[in-house]
Amino acid sequence: MIPTGRFAPSPTGELHFGSLVAAVASFLNIKTRGGRWLVRVENIDPPREVAGSADSLLHSLQLFGLRSDEPVLFQSRRMPAHRAAMQQLLNEGQAYWCGCSRSELPADGVYPGTCRKGLPPGKSPRAVRIKTSPDPVRFSDQIRGPVSETLRDTVGDFVIWRADDLPAYQLAVVVDDAFQEISEVVRGYDLLGSTARQVHVQRCLNLPTPDYAHHPVAATTDGCKLSKRLASDPIRNAPPEESLARALRFLGQDCPAGLTLAGTWQWALENWDLGKIPRKKKIILQD
Ligand code: GLU
Repeated sequence: MIPTGRFAPSPTGELHFGSLVAAVASFLNIKTRGGRWLVRVENIDPPREVAGSADSLLHSLQLFGLRSDEPVLFQSRRMPAHRAAMQQLLNEGQAYWCGCSRSELPADGVYPGTCRKGLPPGKSPRAVRIKTSPDPVRFSDQIRGPVSETLRDTVGDFVIWRADDLPAYQLAVVVDDAFQEISEVVRGYDLLGSTARQVHVQRCLNLPTPDYAHHPVAATTDGCKLSKRLASDPIRNAPPEESLARALRFLGQDCPAGLTLAGTWQWALENWDLGKIPRKKKIILQD
């Protein structure tokens, strides 16, 4: 099987430095091993979608020379497959309908299993939750090493189908990574906390688990994730070759300054080293 990586942005805004870093890391880590790189627009959350964002993201990727090896997959088209996976988990007794409203959930966010044995009287079905177990989910992160999480303690049975009749990210991402035969997921540290849930869903659906690597996220001096502070985004108004070089240096790659865009890519493809990515959760960007 050809190694396959992906960049899966949600269309909630423009490409910013943080998402450029994820795109560049996933692209280089797969391209330096002769693999395919795919772009998937994760537009399954209409309430959060920003009009024009998908076009703007795809246009920005093009400016950087980041081309998907297959036509871009729009995740909303995959809704029937997401629904079928949810239905399968329900039929197999691995998931159940939950009638709890947001206000009924405990403050610590760990679902106590109220509806696990059937809907209590007076409750009607709202969302679908997948059953978790007290056994830890283990996987290995290529940057951080072994990770273990006991989902029963950290989140409890979690939502795979939302009360507004939309697939939850944790289900859709797993179904589509498998559909696109993704063998490697390289993305920001902010998603490391979702990975055990995704590995759990893969196991329940008998789907393969890709390799994972979570790089640091970019933060502003006030500690905020960059996506929330677009005005201080260094890729705004900067030439693509400068932003690309900056993304590479952020990822620990010692990219020389002053190269053209093509020259920067050539340098990156010849020198990419995942082992040099800092093991930090976040890196503050200096102005
Ligand atoms: N769509 C998610 C986001 O933009 C990323 C999904 C992923 O890489 O797994 O945050």
